[in-house]
Amino acid sequence: MDFNDTPEEAAFRAEARAWLERNAEPRDSEDRSEGVLQEGDKPGALAAAKAWQKKKAAAGWVCITWPKEYGGRGGTPIQSVIWGQEEARFKTPPPVFAIGLGMCGPTILAHGTDAQKKRWIPKLVTGEEIWCQLFSEPSAGSDLAGLRSTAVKKGDEWIVNGQKIWTTGAQFSDWGILVVRTDPNVPKHAGLSYFVVDMHSPGIEVRKITQINRSTGFNEVFFTDARIPDENRLGAVGDGWRVALTTLMNERASIGGGGGGGDPFGDLMELARSVEIDGRPGLEDAAVRQQLADFYVKSRGLAYTGYRTLTALSRGQTPGPEASLGKLVGAPLMQQMGAFGMELEGLAGGLGGRTAPDGGTWQNHFLAAPGLRIAGGTDEILRNIIAERVLRLPPEVRVDKDVAFRDVPGGRA
Ligand SMILES: Cc1cc2nc3c(=O)[nH]c(=O)nc-3n(C[C@H](O)[C@H](O)[C@H](O)COP(=O)(O)OP(=O)(O)OC[C@H]3O[C@@H](n4cnc5c(N)ncnc54)[C@H](O)[C@@H]3O)c2cc1C
Repeated sequence: MDFNDTPEEAAFRAEARAWLERNAEPRDSEDRSEGVLQEGDKPGALAAAKAWQKKKAAAGWVCITWPKEYGGRGGTPIQSVIWGQEEARFKTPPPVFAIGLGMCGPTILAHGTDAQKKRWIPKLVTGEEIWCQLFSEPSAGSDLAGLRSTAVKKGDEWIVNGQKIWTTGAQFSDWGILVVRTDPNVPKHAGLSYFVVDMHSPGIEVRKITQINRSTGFNEVFFTDARIPDENRLGAVGDGWRVALTTLMNERASIGGGGGGGDPFGDLMELARSVEIDGRPGLEDAAVRQQLADFYVKSRGLAYTGYRTLTALSRGQTPGPEASLGKLVGAPLMQQMGAFGMELEGLAGGLGGRTAPDGGTWQNHFLAAPGLRIAGGTDEILRNIIAERVLRLPPEVRVDKDVAFRDVPGGRA
């Protein structure tokens, strides 16, 4: 493991930091914004996010690894990570382009035709169009290939019917990536096709879902005879699973590799120092110290695992299973630290929103972490991946693997 920047990386970091210092304000300790896509719903957030993306694009600071011909910088993965680390130190609008840039763009670049790349990539780069991911359904999440929404070809168009759910940001998206069943007569993975859909088309209804923390980042999306031109298909008919895997690999990498600018462990230490337990600072309590030590060990373990990923990127290698490990340990840790922070706050810990101490930081961690434990692969699915691909344990039994989808119980679309 190498913790230091190479001379080239240090020069790139200095250039990035200098540009950010000229164009953005540093984050301060009072800044409670969470930097999540869902905050795009706040008044003025979309306009601010679009303006920031446009400014960065004009200066060449977006899509660091994408080809220059489509508006990217033509840089390396480690430069992309360095830019992310530096940008996290500054106040920036909610990342409403995260799904487009992290998942849709890379999939279009990998599987799209030249015409498709020219149509969609530049406006993604400059922040003119926002994207969402229409994969999950009420009965297809972990088992995504079991989805039931259908598309039937009619002339040069596909007629889409069905329902998607948990679609983050659909309420303000212009385009969506969509996987649907185009052939129920073959095994589930073989009967899927992948499309790009105009979210403003007739026949698409977006309904917001209100979450436990009152955020409305998710939606249900209903398709009733919605039409998609065949030219919006990514990859061959029936090859949608292969295209979807590109999206899912990019999703896991973008969730697992997130750096973030905060220091939750340091904040928790501060809180423990400031509260009183039996007339003494909380930090002097043996049980508090033991719990903090446990959090510290896990936090450092995560940090060093992250450095391993960075070292691999810096050497031009592909990182291993660290992204799955980081999310599997990091998301539950965030939930446990949230719960402990609320406990340290005593009765006030039960308050919510702006009335809570510290602007509700610990309450937010506690309520948002379960979502992180599900998105981009649940804890159990990540364990399966680690068991099968890292530890080489025998694979799960998959009884529906070679059966035509229409013959799988409940499989009829
Ligand atoms: C914050 C967040 C954002 C999201 N954004 C989007 C989005 O923008 N677009 C989109 O399409 N989807 C999105 N999702 C949906 C997400 O992809 C699914 O929730 C996820 O894939 C899990 O699917 P599910 O909810 O149907 O749960 P299920 O797959 O039904 O799982 C239920 C339970 O069964 C367990 N389980 C399932 N299969 C196995 C197995 N084989 N072995 C052991 N245990 C198993 C799971 O671990 C879980 O505990 C989002 C979810 C969250 C939480």
